[in-house]
Amino acid sequence: MISSYALAIDLGGTTAKCALIYNEKIIDRIIIKTKKNEILENIYINILPLLEKNKLEQSDLIFIGITICGLIDYQKGISIWAGNLQWNNYKVIDKLRELFKIENIYILNDSKSATYGEYVKGINKEKSSMLLYTIGTGLGGGVILNHELYFGNNTRLASEPGHSGGFQNKYQCNCNLLGCIEGLSSATGIERELNNNYAYFSKRLNTQKDWIEIKDIYNLFQINDKKTINILKSSLTPLAKHIAVSLHLMDFEIIVIGGGPSALGKNLITIIKDILKDYLLPSFYKKLDLRIAKLGNDAGIWGRYYWSKEKFKNDYPI
Ligand SMILES: [Zn+2]
Repeated sequence: MISSYALAIDLGGTTAKCALIYNEKIIDRIIIKTKKNEILENIYINILPLLEKNKLEQSDLIFIGITICGLIDYQKGISIWAGNLQWNNYKVIDKLRELFKIENIYILNDSKSATYGEYVKGINKEKSSMLLYTIGTGLGGGVILNHELYFGNNTRLASEPGHSGGFQNKYQCNCNLLGCIEGLSSATGIERELNNNYAYFSKRLNTQKDWIEIKDIYNLFQINDKKTINILKSSLTPLAKHIAVSLHLMDFEIIVIGGGPSALGKNLITIIKDILKDYLLPSFYKKLDLRIAKLGNDAGIWGRYYWSKEKFKNDYPI
């Protein structure tokens, strides 16, 4: 265990969630609004009072781990493309080193961070392989092979389950490929389906809201409302197909479902398992271990912390 302080930053399109960690515990947090064009500078300015409040100097931070959405070259420390932040080949690590005067800074993509967090702190590394899906605005994911986060050896951008594959033909994905599961199985896709049945849900929920959200249908889902279940079944079928293909190919020991809709709990797993009956060979179905993510919003923070800690320990050359 490293007996020192570390900073984990979860940088999204609108906010940066920052956590100060000491001896594997979050001791303080701050949420910083993203300031376009001065994103990292603004984070730095807001972290200084957080350090001061905890009676710390910059040099007390043993490392900083930062997670960024979009495509990342984690070895060179570059954000290749992050649409929300308007970054193109932006040298994130160089900039952070210049600001914080700290050498050990590590970056990771958001879904991979969540995957590593769930793997280390959610399931305590109990098996050697795991596949995680995060159902959010898009549909991200991550792969653990032989206890390690898998990046691939060609593009090193592996584990983008949301895209490609012809898994559905109802909605075109933003990426312009055909049949992405993201189009239908992401939270965006599920909500689009719910709102295609707006008249039913507004009446059933007795609400005047313009847009039905997944959290609104929680109670209907728990009482097995037929229409709610059917919509979720059809929306999640592309995801289930993707799980089936991945299992037949890679034989993962554990599949984890994270993201907003995972708050629907055990019944969500029941639905996906039910769909999988039609897509998995019996030998695979019998050993299927499908779980809901445990860490919620903190998965990314913990993934960033533990992965950076590993890199730090190995003195990873960035
Ligand atoms: Zn796509």
